Amino acid sequence: MARVAIVTGGTRGIGAAISLALMKQGRTVVANYAGNEAKAREFSDAHGIRAYKWDVGDHQACLDGCAQVTQEVGPVDIVVNNAGITRDGTLARMNFDDWNDVMRVNLGGCFNMAKACFPGMVERGWGRIVNIGSINGQAGQYGQVNYAAAKSGIHGFTKALAQEGAKKGVTVNAIAPGYIDTDMVAAVPPPVLEKIVAKIPVGRLGHAEEIARGVVFLTSEDAGFVTGSTMSINGGQHMY
Ligand code: NDP
Repeated sequence: MARVAIVTGGTRGIGAAISLALMKQGRTVVANYAGNEAKAREFSDAHGIRAYKWDVGDHQACLDGCAQVTQEVGPVDIVVNNAGITRDGTLARMNFDDWNDVMRVNLGGCFNMAKACFPGMVERGWGRIVNIGSINGQAGQYGQVNYAAAKSGIHGFTKALAQEGAKKGVTVNAIAPGYIDTDMVAAVPPPVLEKIVAKIPVGRLGHAEEIARGVVFLTSEDAGFVTGSTMSINGGQHMY
């Protein structure tokens, strides 16, 4: 039977590319989303991928959402923690809500989804968790103390949980994308983006499909010896 994969934030941007790539591998994919109903419906209808709405920052909503998926689709063997938000600003301009929202969704979401799905993976002796971090969690970024801290936290979370899963057939890895041409990066002012692209040795933004290919490998049956790692996919911008 096809393994069930949940991709959080899986109906647009990098998450949509991940959902489609996993589907092409024969996985039964469920795409979670936060509230963009139009995009979720369009994606779901176009590709026949079920979309489920819940806030990954809400602990109980994750438990309930994953229980519903298990009941309606099957036990979850693969989780891709991709949902993420930005609330950028220098420390002087950043308020507590900007800090807290980003920590709650970007880092808290990984914890909440792991609480919902990791025990079942351990019980069944097989699982794959991939957490989407960021180059800015590795290197830091001006105006992003919240985002950089949350993404850096994801890398630590990954290494710690990998140790818990290692003997149980459950791998936990991270991908740290560089700048990828999605809505999130479209929000960066063009002059700033120009300067960013100039610093990418490959000379362009990345494509969502290039991140998805990394997820396909890390969630494959063949990747059982890869755990606790961070795959940097960034056009050579940060060699870590
Ligand atoms: P987008 O802004 O294009 O899409 C974000 C997705 O996350 C949407 O599907 C959105 O749902 C979902 N989402 C947001 N908040 C929540 C929530 N609380 N609960 C559930 N789902 C939520 O982002 P990208 O595709 O650009 O980024 C995807 C991931 O990759 C993020 O974690 C981001 O931090 C990371 N990343 C992106 C980079 C880039 O250059 N784009 C670089 C490095 C890392 P909805 O559609 O309903 O709003």
